Amino acid sequence: MTQTAPDSAHSGAPMASPGPVVPVVSPRAANTDPRRDILGLSRDELRAALIEIGVPERQANMRAKQIWNWVYHRGVTDFDAMINVAKEVRACLGEAFRISRPEIVDAQYSNDGTRKYLLRFDDGSEAEAVYIPDEDRGTLCISSQVGCTLNCRFCHTGTMRLVRNLTPGEIVAQMMVARDDLGEWPASTDNRRVTNIVMMGMGEPLYNFDNVKKALQIVMDKEGIQMSRRRITLSTAGVVPMMLRCGEEIGVNLAVSLHAVNNETRDEIVPLNKKYRLEQLMEACAAYPGTHNARRITFEYIMLKDINDSDADARELVRLLTRYKLPAKVNLIPFNPWPGSPYECSDWDRVERFSDLVFKAGISAPIRTPRGRDIMAACGQLKSASEKKRKSEILREQAAATQD
Ligand code: SAH
Repeated sequence: MTQTAPDSAHSGAPMASPGPVVPVVSPRAANTDPRRDILGLSRDELRAALIEIGVPERQANMRAKQIWNWVYHRGVTDFDAMINVAKEVRACLGEAFRISRPEIVDAQYSNDGTRKYLLRFDDGSEAEAVYIPDEDRGTLCISSQVGCTLNCRFCHTGTMRLVRNLTPGEIVAQMMVARDDLGEWPASTDNRRVTNIVMMGMGEPLYNFDNVKKALQIVMDKEGIQMSRRRITLSTAGVVPMMLRCGEEIGVNLAVSLHAVNNETRDEIVPLNKKYRLEQLMEACAAYPGTHNARRITFEYIMLKDINDSDADARELVRLLTRYKLPAKVNLIPFNPWPGSPYECSDWDRVERFSDLVFKAGISAPIRTPRGRDIMAACGQLKSASEKKRKSEILREQAAATQD
């Protein structure tokens, strides 16, 4: 769902091959707060950190539990608010720790209720999260990386220069910011506004497995936000070797960015396919733990004019899903073009015909309506605004520098 604007500075650069992230140091000034961030620590780490600052071992469990509750159930960011923690302990906590929030560089509200947050982390790098309300649910779309190494040809994120994994704290923080903004503390389970999470923002979550796992475990924790794993969906472009672990160790719903029904087309639009072939991907889907008819795998399929949208493609899609006996639903995503994008969106009647063909074969294939277009928050539009903004900031800075 997250893309960036084209960047002329590196448009001629060769595309990096998809793979795990080689960290790149971001050029912005770092936040120099030396205190350890509580956000993103596991319960065990929190307990150990408390012992390190002198909390007696026999109290550590209880204190960790109290703090956890304040942080993840109440949304508190100030130790002084933790009134059931002794005053002296609170003072020590405040010296050693902080409960961070990323800087909200920009929050935009669409007239359809969609909210987009552009967040800046301690090292200055940025990512976006989008809240999408529907009649019966509210979905938060979360990023797992700054940038992405996959270079899918229809997606802008691959054109970003800086790529790094988000930390568990930075992933959890996207949820915290949305809940702050929606007034969702304490984290009651009734009438909540963020009812679902999709790991469909910027980045490939299965290339940042450990951090994503830790973050989701925090979000699912029974004494904190208590999001059910059935309400969390992780989307992958097909990092086959990590899919089983995702099911076994995180246990969330799976979405797969399929986008093509043969290796030739998929090689072109999702280069990761050259590494993990379509057949391997489908086998990994068939082996995904916990799928059955009530818990199906979502196959995302972006509609690209004359590339993957023919009747034959629709029929082959049905055959493919049937051949691997997959409890599947298909999500048809109208392509959101961006300046310089090599593709166009399929015509509307084509999208509908494709959807009908799949539906008639007994597989649900709704067309995903673009949301938040007016604030550039729809799939394919994210990040473009922030990149533009960054560019204008740079230009302003340059202008200011030349005036000195
Ligand atoms: N890397 C993971 C998680 C990102 S999900 C994955 O690929 O699944 C991002 C989703 O945004 C992809 O499924 C893709 O369908 C969608 N997307 C990317 N660029 C798009 C565009 N220009 N228009 C519409 N959808 C797009």
